[in-house]
Amino acid sequence: MTRPLDPATLAAKAGHYIDRHSGAIVPPVSTSTTYARDSANQPMNAAHVYARDNNPSFVQAEQVLASLEQGQEALLFASGMAAIAAVFYTLESGSRVVLPKSMYWGAFSWTRQYCARASIAVTYYAPDDIDSLSQAILAGDRTDVVWVETPSNPMMHITDVRKAAELTHAAGGLLLVDNTVPTPLLTRPLELGADIVMHSASKSLNGHSDVIAGALVTRHRHPHWERVVAERHDAGAIMSPFDSALLLRGMRTLAVRVERACQNAAAIADFLQQHEAVQTVLYPGLDSHPGHAIARQQMKGGYGSLMSFIVKGDKSAALAVSGRLQLIIRATSLGGVESLIEHRHSVEPPETGVPDNLLRLAVGIENVNDLIGDLDQALGGAS
Ligand SMILES: *Cc1c(COP(=O)(O)O)cnc(C)c1O
Repeated sequence: MTRPLDPATLAAKAGHYIDRHSGAIVPPVSTSTTYARDSANQPMNAAHVYARDNNPSFVQAEQVLASLEQGQEALLFASGMAAIAAVFYTLESGSRVVLPKSMYWGAFSWTRQYCARASIAVTYYAPDDIDSLSQAILAGDRTDVVWVETPSNPMMHITDVRKAAELTHAAGGLLLVDNTVPTPLLTRPLELGADIVMHSASKSLNGHSDVIAGALVTRHRHPHWERVVAERHDAGAIMSPFDSALLLRGMRTLAVRVERACQNAAAIADFLQQHEAVQTVLYPGLDSHPGHAIARQQMKGGYGSLMSFIVKGDKSAALAVSGRLQLIIRATSLGGVESLIEHRHSVEPPETGVPDNLLRLAVGIENVNDLIGDLDQALGGAS
């Protein structure tokens, strides 16, 4: 092949696997926890000694993800949070990290607690303001890791990844981007200068709400990455063989799912923006979104399946809208084939500042008119 393959092809073919022995085009689920040695006591395959260290079941999914992100190497973890934890466990005490003050709540809360007990300094920045990031980086005498999540969950702030990489590298740090919401189909942060990409593979990568998984992908092997590799190997936050097989199957349809969900989300954002019961729609694909110009540069092919909207009225008005939905399921998570809605204020503590009349909508691949019809009846129920 002279031309690099399109991500849709890379995902669908999942590494062009063909079993050397049987000709099977889907890899087997390898459930063995241990591997035999030969008569001279050498492992029969040097890569495999014990399944907590490494397992053939997740190698292919890692290779597919590395190719989608255009990275050198990927590592799967037992969850997105386990992937995040591996990055922080491998920082020395006395390090300093720069984190967004509005981000996925689970990561915000865990990093705050962990950094306090591990003596890692944290400086926060406003994710929609690049000057705030620059000031945060300059506020300390060392910068080890800078974290970007764009679009951020659930406030949908947009951060300029290219500029964040320049600022981070000038300070000698590594830029880590949580790419869960856009997926590598829409944004490839490593190409924009990031050093490590993180995924909750429980979301769009798997896409069917039936696997918890996480991933890290690196642009190059660097000393911090080698420590992360050792951390997973030694501490063992690996994926199970069955979950790995489900994830690999899920990723094969990533391109069509993302394309459809993006189309649905764009139509729904337009509909909600014009609805009299809606105050504001937070979706980077809308011209009115403050991060739209940057999103247009760094998101290709769509603006993602996640959005939030603020209902006119108070908390009870928002809860009533969500309570009247019949098709869209009230549940946490995102990136699945089915649409989900969540009143984030009910699950995040008040200090995150998420408005109590905000609903986060994770758009699936259902027929868009069915989804709009459900939202319309739920919003109209107030009048
Ligand atoms: C869900 C999520 C995570 C955490 O991943 P888990 O797989 O649930 O552990 C991290 N970042 C973002 C943006 C998420 O949506």
